[in-house]
Amino acid sequence: MSDPINIDGSQGEGGGQIVRSSLALSMVTGRPVTIDRVRAGRAKPGLKQQHLTALRAAQEICRATVTGDTIGSSSFTFHPGDVVPGNYHFAIGTAGSATLVLQAILPPLLIAQRPSRLILEGGTHNPWAPPFDFLQRSYLSLVNRMGPQVTATLERPGFYPAGGGRFIVEIEPAKRAESLTHSPGAPGDLGLSNFHLLERGEIRSRIGRVLLCNLPDHIADRELEELARLDQWEPDCLFRENIKAHGPGNAIVIEVVGEHVIEVFIGIGEQGTKGEVVAQRAFEEMREYLVANVPIGPHLADQLLLPMALSAWQSDTPDHRREGSFRTVRLTDHSKTHIKVLQAFLGTAIVIEEEAQGDTVIVKIGG
Ligand code: ATP
Repeated sequence: MSDPINIDGSQGEGGGQIVRSSLALSMVTGRPVTIDRVRAGRAKPGLKQQHLTALRAAQEICRATVTGDTIGSSSFTFHPGDVVPGNYHFAIGTAGSATLVLQAILPPLLIAQRPSRLILEGGTHNPWAPPFDFLQRSYLSLVNRMGPQVTATLERPGFYPAGGGRFIVEIEPAKRAESLTHSPGAPGDLGLSNFHLLERGEIRSRIGRVLLCNLPDHIADRELEELARLDQWEPDCLFRENIKAHGPGNAIVIEVVGEHVIEVFIGIGEQGTKGEVVAQRAFEEMREYLVANVPIGPHLADQLLLPMALSAWQSDTPDHRREGSFRTVRLTDHSKTHIKVLQAFLGTAIVIEEEAQGDTVIVKIGG
């Protein structure tokens, strides 16, 4: 039995990331985890439906023994069994973010012995969560460079309050090498390769897409007009997509295709917020990214930390040392909290080097 670990859910930002990443890392390492003061940093602390669904999904894929798995729970325990890759279907039942549920269960399936196929239902375009387009176009394309092959297909978007979004994730795990010497405590080869991304390269295109579900066209028209007013776009790079969903929904998705990386920025329409403001929010995030001249934006930085830390954890002998690095903007409190959780489970070295010019850093993991 691996060493149990206690995680303080109130540390740093004290949010849901501590829960999701702890679940993922408990499954990967086999270490039973107890989390106290769950989401104590949030206005409504404890497990919400999204976190509880992640906990139950994690329980199902590794046949874990769990206590404290109720809505509002401020403490729970999770004793993982062996991860069983395969076909699974998880539905949140509310508009809670299904992409966040994926965060808890993807890491162990990336390094499993066989492929998996997941159906996830809930919100796909939520504020403060990875939008589906970001997951598919940006995050997974970088994860795939580390060895696994993961595809995500949207069947139906889900917006607050109706939810009902649905997408499929197919996971072909990374191929493991025959042997890789490793020291006690490290797992040996998981198939994850080194990942470095320090330059974004030239910007090849920028595409602004307005998603509109069960809402009048003039909303999209105004958002597109505002995007056009804010900047010059190449011909045919601003357009609208009317899609079917269970309720009303609107989002602006801006995709920046760089030579070495794709980044995605989002504005989520909500009742009482003018379309112009939604467009300005998405545009401002894109503008900050372009001005910073880094390959990795703040959310991508946050989410790459976990697979990169796993890669570094595989083997820590000098001959087979794995390491990774990326340039990004100054880390958020969210990312700094995330790093503490990763280090508590894996002990991986993660160093943040501030650059002389401006507010950018290089994050170095392992090595
Ligand atoms: P809580 O309600 O406790 O804040 P939560 O479970 O909703 O928690 P957070 O801990 O805030 O979640 O984590 C949010 C996650 O969503 C992080 O991984 C963050 O990088 C990601 N995220 C938020 N906004 C975006 C965005 N616009 N694009 C991509 N990822 C995003």
